[in-house]
Formats: sequence, C-alpha cells, structure tokens
Amino acid sequence: MPLDQLVLGLQHALDRLIRRLRLGPPPSAGRRRLLIVQIDGLSRAVLEDAMARGRAPFLARLVHRRGYPMTPMSVGLPTSTPAFQLAAMYGVRPDIPGFHYHDKRRKADVYFPRGSDAAHVEQTQAAGRKGIVSGGGTYGCVFTGGAASNLLTFAMIKRPTGAGLVRTASKLVVIAWVLVKGSIASTVEVVRALLRMIADPVSAAAGNWKWLAIKLAISVWLRELFTLAAGHDIYTGVSTIYINYLDYDVAAHAWGPRHPRALQALRRVDASIHRLWRVLRRVPEHRYDLYVLSDHGQAATQPYLRLTGGRRIEQSLFDDFFSTAEGRASTAGREGGGVFRTLEAVRARRAPGFFQRFVNYLEQDFPWVLGGTRSVREHDGIRVIAAGPNAFVYFLETTEALTIERIEERHPELPARISASPGIGIVLVRSAAGPLCFWRGRRYSLDTLAAGPFAHRPDLERVVEGIRDLMSMPSAGDLVIYGIDAPQGNVSFVAEVGAHAGPSIDEMETFLIHPPQVIVPTPITHPVQLYPHFASYQTEAA
Ligand SMILES: [Zn+2]
Repeated sequence: MPLDQLVLGLQHALDRLIRRLRLGPPPSAGRRRLLIVQIDGLSRAVLEDAMARGRAPFLARLVHRRGYPMTPMSVGLPTSTPAFQLAAMYGVRPDIPGFHYHDKRRKADVYFPRGSDAAHVEQTQAAGRKGIVSGGGTYGCVFTGGAASNLLTFAMIKRPTGAGLVRTASKLVVIAWVLVKGSIASTVEVVRALLRMIADPVSAAAGNWKWLAIKLAISVWLRELFTLAAGHDIYTGVSTIYINYLDYDVAAHAWGPRHPRALQALRRVDASIHRLWRVLRRVPEHRYDLYVLSDHGQAATQPYLRLTGGRRIEQSLFDDFFSTAEGRASTAGREGGGVFRTLEAVRARRAPGFFQRFVNYLEQDFPWVLGGTRSVREHDGIRVIAAGPNAFVYFLETTEALTIERIEERHPELPARISASPGIGIVLVRSAAGPLCFWRGRRYSLDTLAAGPFAHRPDLERVVEGIRDLMSMPSAGDLVIYGIDAPQGNVSFVAEVGAHAGPSIDEMETFLIHPPQVIVPTPITHPVQLYPHFASYQTEAA
C-alpha cells in the first residue's frame, strides 16, 4: 500500500534528521541481517492448499517465481509455541511439555500468558546461550530470544518494550499511522457488520459478532502495529527481527484450521508479509534475509464437552478413575490470590453481575484468552491440568516423575483404562524400560507404535522421537493424555475446534521458506536445528 510506504519514508527521513542532529552514525551496511516471520499455527498441508487456491498469493509468488525454497520442517512434541521458540531461539531441547503445566519440583504451575512464567522459563532454560534475536526486536513472541526490544512478547509483557520503549517512542509517526488506519479499518468492519445485520438479521447472529471482535483486536490492530513497527525496524537496519503473526492461529482455534475465516486471516497475514517485502526492497543495502516459518500446525478437533454432555476431562478423571466423595466436590488451587482467585471465584459463579457475564462469555467463546487455568483440579495429591488436546495428571507424592510400575501399585491398569474411555486418544506414561503408549485399551512400546495408533505415518520416526523427548521432560505429567486420534476423531479438552500440542501429522509438519542462496539444514526434524543457522547471523554481526 503506497500510503504505508509514504509514512515509513517520512519516519525514515525523521530518523535521519534526528541522527544528523545528534551526529550519530547510520547503521552499518555491510553485514547480513535476519527477518523471521512466524505464521503461528499454520501446517504445511494448509499452506500448500492455500497457495494452490490463491489464498496466500504473495507466499506462492515467493516460492514459485522468486525461487524461495519451502523446506519441510517437523517441529517435535509438544506442538506448542513456547517449546518451538525456546528450541529455535536457544538451541536447547526444552522442558516445556505444553502451554500450561505443573512443575512438581517447584510446586508451581507454569502458564505461558503469565509474563513472569515465560520470563522464568527463559532465564532458567536458555542455558546461558546467546539468543538468536540478541540486539534485535521481537513482536508477539513468547520469549525474547535475547532481544532488547520486545512488543507484546510474553516474557516481557509487564515491561512492554524494555529498552525498546525509546525505540517505540521514536516510532511516533508509525504509531500515529497505525491509529489512523486501525480506526478506519475498525469503522469499516463495524459498518459492514451492521449492514449484514440489516440485510439478514436472523443469520447475522452471535458468530459474526465474535468474529468481528477477534478481527478488530488481533487482525486489524495487532497486525497493523506489528507490520508497521517491523517495517520501521527494517528501515533503521535492526540486526534481527522476529515477528509472530497470531491471526491465523486464533481463527483456526475458533473455527477450524481450514475454515474460510481461518483462511481469510491467512490471506491478511500474507498481505502483511508482502508489505514487509516491499520495505525490504527499498533498503537493499541492509541485506536482510527473509525467512517465513510456522511453529506448529493445528488438528481439526471437536470439544470433549460436546461428547460428554458438558463433563470436563478433569471431572471425568476424578469421577471415573480417582474417585473419592470429596474429590467430586473440590475445585482447584493452591495457586495464589489476586486476579487468579478472582477469576476462579467468577468461574465458580460466585461473583455476580456484569463482570461474571463477561468472563462467562470469554470462557465460552474465547477459551484460549483465559487459557488452561480454569482447567486445573487437585485433590488427594493428584493434580490434573487440561490445556488443549492434552491433559496432564500429576501424582504429587514425589517430586520426580512416577513410572507406570509405581502408578499401578495404587491404580491398577490405570493408563489402559483411561485410554479405553470415550474421547481419549493416546495415553503416555514412563516405565523402567522407556516410554509406553496406550491406545484404545492396549499397550505399545515405542518399537511397536506402527502396529497401533501411528500405523501409516510416513514420519513415524519423528513421532517416536517426539514422544521420547516429551516423556523425558521432567515437567510432563506422570500421565500425558491426548484427545488426538480418539475413536470419535480428534478431541480437544477445551472448547475449540482447532487444537495443537499433540502428535497428529498436521500439528507436527510445518515449513521453512528461506532465501535461495542460503543453505539450511535438511531434513529439519526438530526446531533445535534452526539455532546454529540463525545464530550465525549473530557471529557475523560481532
Ligand atoms: Zn494456538
């Protein structure tokens, strides 16, 4: 869009003027710079489909006409953003079994939207390594990757931009433009929705208003802000930029990974990447290499609640398998006070009024906004956390993970029985002889998976490696329960029709689009392999 170019050009001129007044040097021109664009939640299969059907025209051109190779990438387990980003940013195999889990040794839950949790995980697991975004900027990530400037990145959510606050302040022209454009776009969307209502008041029901809210918040405002701010970074020659577009992932959770609304979100992300590309072309002297990748895909799921007539997985587990009378009555929570307790109270329907209605609305329609916290239950030393198509069961009697031998002393045949119950796919558990997988009541070792749940998987080796990695994480549950590949199809334990964290092929298989002249590791079997490649831009910078 030429107006964007004008605004960025204006900002660029302003920056030059400021630099001249302060006699500072322009950024050095020589070395290669790194621009990573992550399209959250997009599987390779959906992208290929979208490209073929004209729903991602810029990426299709980049791959087919400009010769940017699309290298397949398998992302390992769990298929979850924090696990991917820690591996790619620091080159370590993380102890991050999901988006929400329990750390028995610290006796604490880790829940990623909480900025302090993300920061703690990054500090303790980065192993003192230099992150791939050191000296650069992140947008919408879970971790900083060493970046000084972080906008809406979980680990820095309370200090939105750290040192980058100054940088943001210097982006005043860009920010003013985001406000103008965002307001116009919001108005257009609201007017459109109103016209639809007038034209067809019956079918323009709740669904459209939900979509409108998401579109405005994430798809209009966040995407605009990220794109223009990153465009400005490119003009000024920031050494490394990691930008994560969330639009597609959010829409796919709400409507399914192949729903027209999810593809529409992808279409808009594609247009934003095109805009970044045009900025790149205006400053060839900065020598940016553009990478487009995805951290995981999504499986089409049905909510567990729909199968069970409203009974949650935690409830099912306590009622059917860990049954005690008090167990049925108690709700979660050693977890602290403050907002959490208020939310719990509100969720337990103890708080009346408008706020209650708002939270109920969020809980029903935007479960991912509240994440997994509401799906925690603990009783009799057993803690259950459900966080998507995955649920973790922790026996709190020891700080180490329990093996099946220990678990079955108290709960005979437990993994087998759970795996045979409705809405359950596979159940993973550790044993003295390595991880075991239970599926539809039967037991498989990693060597015999091909005879069971993962028959016909071309990437069986990746699945085996993923399960081994996952069950060697100290924070993974003593039981790891997946709704993926249940007899009823793929099932999520939260109210969503697109989900990830599990081992289905759409969740695990993504892509890396990269410049034709660079050589990337192949095959990419785990995001940990990206680290040395991206880190080499840092050494060049030194
Ligand atoms: Zn997601």
